[in-house]
Amino acid sequence: MADQYDVVIIGAGPGGYNCAIRAGQLGLKTAVVDMRDKLGGACLNVGCIPSKALLHASERYEEANRDFAGMGVGIGKLSLNLKKMMAWKDDAVDGLTKGVAFLLRKNKVDCFAGKGRITGCGRVLVTKSHGGQTELSARNIVIATGSESAPLPGIEIDEERIVSSTGALTLEAVPGKMVVIGAGVIGLELGSVWRRLGADVTVVEFLDRVLPGMDGEVSRQAGRLFKKQGMAFRLSTKVTDVKKFKTKLKVSTEPAEGGEGEVLDADVVLVCIGRRPYTEGLGLEAIGIKTDKRGMIIHDHWKAADGAWVIGDATSGPMLAHKAEDEGVAVAELIAGKAGHVNVDVIPNVVYTSPEIASVGRTEEQLKQAGCKYKSGSFPFMANSRARTNGHTDGFVKILADAETDEILGAHLIGPNAGELVAELAVAMEFRASSEDIARTCHAHPTLSEAVRQAAMGVEDRIMQM
Ligand code: FAD
Ligand code: NAD
Repeated sequence: MADQYDVVIIGAGPGGYNCAIRAGQLGLKTAVVDMRDKLGGACLNVGCIPSKALLHASERYEEANRDFAGMGVGIGKLSLNLKKMMAWKDDAVDGLTKGVAFLLRKNKVDCFAGKGRITGCGRVLVTKSHGGQTELSARNIVIATGSESAPLPGIEIDEERIVSSTGALTLEAVPGKMVVIGAGVIGLELGSVWRRLGADVTVVEFLDRVLPGMDGEVSRQAGRLFKKQGMAFRLSTKVTDVKKFKTKLKVSTEPAEGGEGEVLDADVVLVCIGRRPYTEGLGLEAIGIKTDKRGMIIHDHWKAADGAWVIGDATSGPMLAHKAEDEGVAVAELIAGKAGHVNVDVIPNVVYTSPEIASVGRTEEQLKQAGCKYKSGSFPFMANSRARTNGHTDGFVKILADAETDEILGAHLIGPNAGELVAELAVAMEFRASSEDIARTCHAHPTLSEAVRQAAMGVEDRIMQM
């Protein structure tokens, strides 16, 4: 045995590295094992961070092209240097992964580069990236191995012309035509990036609306806005085949219910139909860890077996970085004998398109299905003074509150900075606030947050700014 640890964490994504930092803070002897070149997991390397850097840069590019002249800002002829944009993205990734390495060092966490496999109770064998093996021994193993793109049977990803999100973050040229399979978060975020940079984007979605898991009103509005921006949609449609030719791809589609199909031309096809837990070669069977039919590791309060825990995308719940992070912290605290807790009812969800889309708590459809009596208030950004001065008036804020107690049960936003605005509602919900609490709280003028307050006022039918 090379070393004896209190905690060995397999996977250094937001779940794993936050678990390690918290464990280090709590004085636990901690190690983290990751098989990537850089720390930070999917989130920092091929997920949240590179996608947000490209969303930011491409949004500025589109704004410069579309809006600057109207504000009296002349910039001459606009041009795109894609190589530089990619370097800007890589810079953001690089800085943040180094930041994770610094935080782990600061909290005395040992890092092992290699693939980890559980070989028995409290034992992790690391096959090192640079050769050789080492065995770690631990009182607690935390599985934080994350997820991978779900494949579409019969369609082989080459990460050049038929890409997953990973390939879509590193294309070397703007495709003429891009077909996106799946109108979920990745499809709309990365579809937006390439549309803004000049691609002709068609999104094929199996269900009858974009972002099917979101509140219906928000998802319908989102569909209308993305269409207005120039994305084409084939809803209630499935892809049956992608054929590769020398310079083109031919994407065969069919109505979801069956019937006559259509063939779409493409230079690049992005497959983004969801993600699945990644547990390949992890040795779950060695200590009797079970998975469900979707491959998610089964647990009771994150305990997957004696001395083994699971957090993040490898297990149930939304596949979001902040959910993984909170679970990592909770598990470190439980291991240290504290009361680790995550409120699964208040996990915000943000789609970083333009406008942004954000939600927290239950949707109107979920409340109806559960037979909950609720009141609703909503307010359009068109009537918000800051949205008007910024020229970003699409969208609205909707707040759902219990019909009797007025407790906020859900909030759904589509509009400028929705991803930041939703934090106020998440805090309110953690404190079990009523809509009246928000309606009576003074909000600075002129800010976008006034739209949140007005939506809360709308729950009692007393909107004041119109
Ligand atoms: P991961 O981040 O996947 O990390 C797991 C790590 O474990 C990886 O580094 C992997 O290499 C390593 N590993 C796996 N098996 C082993 C092994 N046997 N041995 C050693 N190492 C191993 N979420 C958000 O909240 N906001 C966003 O804006 C957002 N954008 C996204 C954009 C894209 C394109 C994608 C793909 C995802 C995005 N997500 C976003 C989701 C987010 O990335 C994940 O929810 C999050 O990374 C999950 O964290 P995790 O720690 O569970 O796993
Ligand atoms: P998703 O679940 O968001 O969307 C997948 C979409 O594909 C759904 O609308 C689904 O109906 C559709 N679909 C499924 N099978 C299909 C088929 N055969 N043909 C056509 N459409 C099909 O998944 P995603 O966009 O791949 O993203 C994966 C996960 O990554 C997300 O669920 C999310 O947890 C995470 N993520 C989060 C963010 C963020 O927080 N901003 C960004 C990117 C990814």
